[in-house]
Amino acid sequence: MPSASRRRLTTNAPGDLFVDSSCIDCDTCRWMAPSVFDRADEQSRVHHQPSSEEERASAQLALVACPTGSIRTETKHDLAAARSAFPIPVDGDVFHCGYHSESSFGATSYLVVRPPERGGNVLVDSPRWNKSLVARLEELGGVRTLFLTHVDDVAEHARFAAHFGAERVMHAADAVAGIERVIAGDEPVDLDPELRVIPTSGHTAGSACLLYRARYLFTGDHLAWSETRGHLYAFRSATWFDWKTQIRSMERLARERFEWVLPGHGRRAHVPLPAMREEMERCVAWMKARA
Ligand code: SF4
Repeated sequence: MPSASRRRLTTNAPGDLFVDSSCIDCDTCRWMAPSVFDRADEQSRVHHQPSSEEERASAQLALVACPTGSIRTETKHDLAAARSAFPIPVDGDVFHCGYHSESSFGATSYLVVRPPERGGNVLVDSPRWNKSLVARLEELGGVRTLFLTHVDDVAEHARFAAHFGAERVMHAADAVAGIERVIAGDEPVDLDPELRVIPTSGHTAGSACLLYRARYLFTGDHLAWSETRGHLYAFRSATWFDWKTQIRSMERLARERFEWVLPGHGRRAHVPLPAMREEMERCVAWMKARA
């Protein structure tokens, strides 16, 4: 039951669906259902009430994913389908876990589904603990590896690792208590023939990306797509460790092959090669102009 101090934001369009005053401005609903949610006064709002089945479905998924339960309805709805929908497909065997956690400021968590003979499933960063999600993860084969991109997005890592018997992987400079496999230094480390950890210090000292099958790059808060700028970028105003170090990390990362950028915060990008290489060069140049 939402607390009585939560109020419907006046910026919402009139109608059943609304965002309340507890919104932390994490951006999740806006990229999940942009035809329904946008930003006003540093919070999200409903700018358009869902008017099609497709919009209703995407708004309900955003409601379930919202880390703070800030998306609500005036009338009662059956959300069972939305709750059991996650993880939802992104591309190939990569899924979006939904159930974003407030402790990681609503960072996105991903699941890579692989058969046991290829090393089993990989969870990238931690969603919030939820019974429906855990049941679906069990149905999809559990979690063998839990890769943590950096210290900000660990959320309920210990609970997921204990429940699934997963091996947690994290860079030494950010590693929290209990991590089973600690990666050190600046050089890439192959976990198996499909998974490569690429240290990308900068946003935090121990930030790292995970590259899957030289196609999908999970970037945490190191790299994302900017809708407003129209190119790949890094969070200059949220560099907690060192911007120049992050530029050097980005230059090393640009040598890798990938087509998808799948961030914790910020927007995804799918840019087929060789255009992705040009996008990375543009990103590095943009960063250097801000050094
Ligand atoms: S997902 Fe929730 S907390 Fe995040 S911006 Fe939307 S309403 Fe706000």
